[in-house]
Amino acid sequence: MKIICIGRNYVDHINELGNERPNEPVVFIKPDSSVLPKEQDFYIPEFSNDVQYEVEVLVKIKKVGKHIDEKFAHTYYDEVGLGIDFTARDLQSQLKAKGLPWEKAKGFDGAAVIGKWLPKTNFEDLNKLNFSLRKNEELVQEGNTSLMLWKIDELIAHVSSYFMLKKGDVIFTGTPAGVGKISTNDYLSGKLGSEEMFTVKIK
Ligand code: ZN
Repeated sequence: MKIICIGRNYVDHINELGNERPNEPVVFIKPDSSVLPKEQDFYIPEFSNDVQYEVEVLVKIKKVGKHIDEKFAHTYYDEVGLGIDFTARDLQSQLKAKGLPWEKAKGFDGAAVIGKWLPKTNFEDLNKLNFSLRKNEELVQEGNTSLMLWKIDELIAHVSSYFMLKKGDVIFTGTPAGVGKISTNDYLSGKLGSEEMFTVKIK
């Protein structure tokens, strides 16, 4: 199983990091070892002093496909979820400045929180999903999938022209504004619509 992540998919987040608006989706991969095991606490890695949360809507791929046409993309997933793309921002900034790949800043152990899955039929319109993240019960990130530069089906079409998608692969669809640093003893919880999708304790 692989995790395909989309960067810079919400304009308000592009602006907060001072990044350029991309002409096509920014894509990177996290290894399967980055998945934080269920019910396990997240330990801030020693190599970073600035690990940040990024709450993102997730899609789980249900069958093999490559070069998927956008109009058939919806037949490749039945479930949506919510997760966190933990990012060692200090390390990412150093790597970016040197033009190097981001993997060490994004793909470390525990860097992918994957919450529970819900059938997509629970939602009237996947392009109008509200989602949010709370840190210590305070609202820190709020987004709506209508604000994505590239929608879920467009993302599937794009990434499948580079990587064969396989059953069980997960797509992280990008984060809205409000990303921020975590500290020991923080408690994060994410909601998709009104449904709580995950909770994580920071150690
Ligand atoms: Zn992200």
